[in-house]
Amino acid sequence: MPRLYRRALCSPVGYSRLRKIHTMLTYEQARNKVIEEVGKRRGPRATAAVSVWDALGLVLAQEVITDREYPPFNRSTRDGYAVRSKEVLPGAQLKCVGEIKAGDTVRDALTSGTCVQIMTGAAVPEGADAVVMIEHTSREDDVVRFERAAHQGQNIVSRGSEAAAAQTILTPGMRLGFAELALAAQVGAVQLQCAQRPRVALLSTGDEIVLIDETPGPFQIRNSNSVSLAAQVRIAGGEPVVLGNAADRIEDLGARIERGLKEDALVLSGGVSMGKYDLVESVLKAMGAEFLFDAVAIRPGKPAVFGVCQGKPVFGLPGNPVSTMVTFELFVAPAIDLLSGAVPRPLPLVEARLAEALKEKSGLAHFLPARVEWRGTVPEVKALRWQGSGDIAALAKANCFLVVPADRENDSAEERCSLSSPGHGKTLPLWKERRSADGRRVGEIRDDTDSGRTRFCEDEAACCKRSAPAKESERESLGSGAHRRNRRRQEDRGVDTSLSSTSADAH
Ligand code: AMP
Ligand code: MG
Repeated sequence: MPRLYRRALCSPVGYSRLRKIHTMLTYEQARNKVIEEVGKRRGPRATAAVSVWDALGLVLAQEVITDREYPPFNRSTRDGYAVRSKEVLPGAQLKCVGEIKAGDTVRDALTSGTCVQIMTGAAVPEGADAVVMIEHTSREDDVVRFERAAHQGQNIVSRGSEAAAAQTILTPGMRLGFAELALAAQVGAVQLQCAQRPRVALLSTGDEIVLIDETPGPFQIRNSNSVSLAAQVRIAGGEPVVLGNAADRIEDLGARIERGLKEDALVLSGGVSMGKYDLVESVLKAMGAEFLFDAVAIRPGKPAVFGVCQGKPVFGLPGNPVSTMVTFELFVAPAIDLLSGAVPRPLPLVEARLAEALKEKSGLAHFLPARVEWRGTVPEVKALRWQGSGDIAALAKANCFLVVPADRENDSAEERCSLSSPGHGKTLPLWKERRSADGRRVGEIRDDTDSGRTRFCEDEAACCKRSAPAKESERESLGSGAHRRNRRRQEDRGVDTSLSSTSADAH
């Protein structure tokens, strides 16, 4: 039996079910704790040389430098005629003395009074300083007539203007998407030194859980969390190590946790609530874990736990499947970024207009399965009916989470936003609106919804800044005009502007 939890079992006080001990954090605070703690501990990652064909999604662990200037010659960006710009005025005629196609070696300079037909991607000859699009010319035999004046540099990308020779164009920590891979390919970097994917151990817990290829008994359920977590780990750039399911017993849990701690991070599902058989925290504690939080002001996902055990980040996610999915995106995904050698990707918050009023209790931020659709130029988001955090079917119908912030005034619809899990179709649009108790719109981003313009948050900081309550003076001036217009629009669409509840209780 592994040493650490054996001690816990033997000690008269070592094992007792833990009460939740920490203050409840907001999801932003909890996420920052993860980022701070995992950031502190990440050492140099093991790296490996990977072919540029296989490096999609990996994090670069080297600099990539250019082998020459880019573009390597003055490049034409159009099909047309290379000219001396000062010779081309409306109605000018020049003799065409040849043609240059992409890939041709160009030696001769363009002489005065002539032009050369040139194709997109071809090298512009010495002496020429503009390319006139073929559409703005007419030609008879070898005489070309120009309809418009040309100006210097027109339709030419000059040599070295995209990158100098020996310039660093990709740096360690960059995640390799298709553009980064193309850039590496362009400069001939066919093998890239990349950080190895962090290995993330996944351990589900619960006496009621059976393998997904087993037929569950009448009161058992299949282990869907291991499947969703493995998918989420892959999307986040990690390597899932599925450790199966631990029974709600100290010995089994302890042995499997011990195994999980051999990997770069450990993610558990279930066993972190207040029930008699929720043993994850106490077993971790007995194994030396220090907890950074064990409750977050969110629904679903409130009992989420994060700590460090034997030097490894450990996440205890609540077992209800939607809770597991939401808390993974919020807390585990940034840890995987850090363990990969990258900076954590910000939560992809996007603004959208709320289609229907909601009524969620304040004090907890809600993450509701929702659908966002485009209404003309405006994204509009609507929460789906669901049965709470066990309702995977509702999430499968959703294409985003609608985030209802915790700090709402009264129970009216003040601020709504939603956010997405990148890369698998759950975009997370953000809708934000603030209303005073008497129903006036006083939100600081009224221009977006009223004008129909949509703004996308570049980063989390920008989102947070915009979430800050408007100054008192601004609130006054924002007032009723915007509110009336919004209300009228809602009524036009037949939306009930009174408030209604949409979600069942969920943890
Ligand atoms: P727990 O957080 O352990 O109290 O689990 C709450 C509920 O989540 C359980 O009653 C199950 O219905 C569900 N659940 C727990 N673990 C899993 C799992 N691995 N796969 C699917 N559902 C789960
Ligand atoms: Mg359980």
